[in-house]
Amino acid sequence: MLKVAGLTAAQGQRTHGTVILTVSGVEVQLPVFLINGTKPGPTLVVTAGIHGAEYASIEAALRLGQTLAPDTLQGQVIVVPIANPLAFSARSIYVSPVDGKNLNRQFPGVANGTYSQALAYWLFHEVIQQGDAYIDLHGGDLIEALQPFVIHFPTGDPAGDQAAGAMARHFGITHVIEGHTPGSTYAAASEAGIPAILAEAGGQGIWTEKNIALLHQGVHRVMAHLGMTKQVFAPDRSVIMLEHWAWLCAENNGVFYPRIAVGEQVTVGQDLGRVADVFGNTLQSLKAPTSGVILFLVTSLAMNSGDPLLAIAG
Ligand SMILES: [Zn+2]
Repeated sequence: MLKVAGLTAAQGQRTHGTVILTVSGVEVQLPVFLINGTKPGPTLVVTAGIHGAEYASIEAALRLGQTLAPDTLQGQVIVVPIANPLAFSARSIYVSPVDGKNLNRQFPGVANGTYSQALAYWLFHEVIQQGDAYIDLHGGDLIEALQPFVIHFPTGDPAGDQAAGAMARHFGITHVIEGHTPGSTYAAASEAGIPAILAEAGGQGIWTEKNIALLHQGVHRVMAHLGMTKQVFAPDRSVIMLEHWAWLCAENNGVFYPRIAVGEQVTVGQDLGRVADVFGNTLQSLKAPTSGVILFLVTSLAMNSGDPLLAIAG
């Protein structure tokens, strides 16, 4: 029996429902899909909406939950497509509206913590830990343009690292990179021995069929790789394993004038743009600290001290 809170699916069944949680005193209505295959196999957990305005990833997870059929499945799939419903309804950028914290820095969570810490705790212990494998879907936020990429977190455990690396390479997104973000979904799961990846596509509040399909099909590709379906996919496109990345962050409040576009290749020392005050005085000149591809670029004119500006990976 596949089970999340009061929701269940017996072998061969698909079900969905809204799980009502009280998180740090706040009611959360969490949509959940359970797909229990007709044959036994591994359990895959898929989440989206950890960041509430990354719409291509949320729509990809909704479609997965609505369409995945038990009779095509060996194993079980839990889909939580809008993992932070209050951030979704508030169209909130980066953070939860209740406590101002980034949910993807709180895992594995704190049971009696603030809203985001307690929500992370529930998601990790009630959902993610049920998985033999875990995929977290993301994209650029409302103010970010983004080149699709997949991240995994090496823990030093050879079998786990091999499994997560293989999931990343089979997802069907060209750029793959190792990430080490503390408190993130995929890092916490990996440290708990669950092979995990985080896949990103889309951004700026736009949800195109191309990016939805990239993420939706990516989950299907991983399911086929894990032996959960008999789907056959064309051999992987040539994956580019990026070896390092650098994030540039704003040092001041001001206005941001980038000189490059997302997906563009840049070389070390290249002028990437500037942060200025509203009178036109440059506060921060941006030079590329490394050569590589622009993986994401913040596209809002408004810039706040400490916020990310862009990332370069090579
Ligand atoms: Zn995100």
